[in-house]
Amino acid sequence: MEQLNTQIKINDIRLQNNNLKFKSCGYLDIKYFGNEINNKNEIDLTVEITKEIESLNLDLNLNFTYVSECSRCLDRNNKDDSASFNKNLSTNSENDYDIDINNEIIDVLSIVSEAIISKMEFTNICKKDCKGLCSLCGKNQNKYVCSHDEKNIKESPFSSLSELDL
Ligand SMILES: [Zn+2]
Ligand SMILES: [Zn+2]
Repeated sequence: MEQLNTQIKINDIRLQNNNLKFKSCGYLDIKYFGNEINNKNEIDLTVEITKEIESLNLDLNLNFTYVSECSRCLDRNNKDDSASFNKNLSTNSENDYDIDINNEIIDVLSIVSEAIISKMEFTNICKKDCKGLCSLCGKNQNKYVCSHDEKNIKESPFSSLSELDL
């Protein structure tokens, strides 16, 4: 999969047309706490740009998948989400995204990343009663139930010998 193209040529809209539609799909490398987008997660981006008096209005729509890791059992699950965003960028003043709409090409990468990250959670739990990992052996307790208990491990490795009838 190709990297998501976020560069939009806005020359036409500035010179003649009143609006422009841009579509692109691909991936971005985004890591945010236990969430990740990599080259297996497709992002669909649509941007509609409308020329207004001394500004451009950007209407962004995103559909994307990402992987999120459970904070307790570290299981990785795919999630689908979507985001939409409306931004009005002025020709005369600066904006938070460092986008200069007087240029021929604008890059909406910072808007796209912000929209995606705003959908991600700081902590992810795969299910309400996730049992997490065994603190002794690290096995996922949703899948296995460990039979050893803490005492057995803390005892000396020779303790089992005392139980043998020699
Ligand atoms: Zn879990
Ligand atoms: Zn265990």
